[in-house]
Amino acid sequence: MRCPPFTRLSVKLGLIVCAACSWSADASGAAVAHCGGTGVGLQVLGSGGPELQGQRASSGYLLWWNDRARVLVDIGGGAALRFGQSGASVTELDVILLTHLHVDHVGDLPALIKSSFFEDRRESLPVYGPPGNGEFPATTSFVRELFAAPHGAFRYLSEFVAPPKGGSYLLQPHDVVLKPHELHLLFDRQGIRVTAATVIHGDVPALAYRIDLGGVGIAFSGDTDGNNGNLQRLAQGADALVAHNAVPEGARGVERALHMPPSVIGRIAHEAGARRLILSHRMLRTLGREEETATAIRASFSGPLTFANDLDCFPIK
Ligand SMILES: [Zn+2]
Repeated sequence: MRCPPFTRLSVKLGLIVCAACSWSADASGAAVAHCGGTGVGLQVLGSGGPELQGQRASSGYLLWWNDRARVLVDIGGGAALRFGQSGASVTELDVILLTHLHVDHVGDLPALIKSSFFEDRRESLPVYGPPGNGEFPATTSFVRELFAAPHGAFRYLSEFVAPPKGGSYLLQPHDVVLKPHELHLLFDRQGIRVTAATVIHGDVPALAYRIDLGGVGIAFSGDTDGNNGNLQRLAQGADALVAHNAVPEGARGVERALHMPPSVIGRIAHEAGARRLILSHRMLRTLGREEETATAIRASFSGPLTFANDLDCFPIK
């Protein structure tokens, strides 16, 4: 199937359709998938992962506000390239939020930071993420172990964590340590408010986020089993809930222990009173099962439901 100009192949409710997209060329002639303009836009950088055969970038989202990319949530493998294709720059960002430290959520952080070496950012860039445990480093350690001298993997970029005078901007990593059912406002600057809550993703320290900006609220589930009751509280009345469709209905064992099946996503979206639901993190085991996934969600959630693709742009206001 071929799509007409300015549209591209998309799967909606199990049907293959040509969805409108807005591509243009930047100064270099490269294609740019715009999500700017007036108001707030949610752009999906990565709708899949971790499997590369899904031909989708891993987890990554941008929130645009009045033509500027302001908030980056996750930067999994492939999402750094999508970041470039979106036309965003690191210089524009106010904050980076990491849901957890699996490769499919943070694997492209070094690529993003190295790219920004060629920008002209001077202001420090806050990076929030979970605390550590025996298996995972805390976010502060993770950033240090990537970039800090003398032992960081990419210590040749140590100026991003301890710059010489007149050097690059600084990354400012923070560990978000929360009580089990706490909703914590961790960032409140320039009209952007970020609230976090702990979610359960097996033994992996993990966070869900809600970002309020420009009069709208957008919640991100991250990866979670959906069982601790925090996500629906965090996403209460949200204009959009981005939920991860990593397992099909009926999943069992480790898959179910780590992720929420569609019926749980639908129930949470309903309990939150979310205005719309966007499904992402579409793994091979859920691709092609959109119809049954939508049916399971529809048992409890009746609002607009979209299966995301890389670089999709959702105007929120
Ligand atoms: Zn994941």
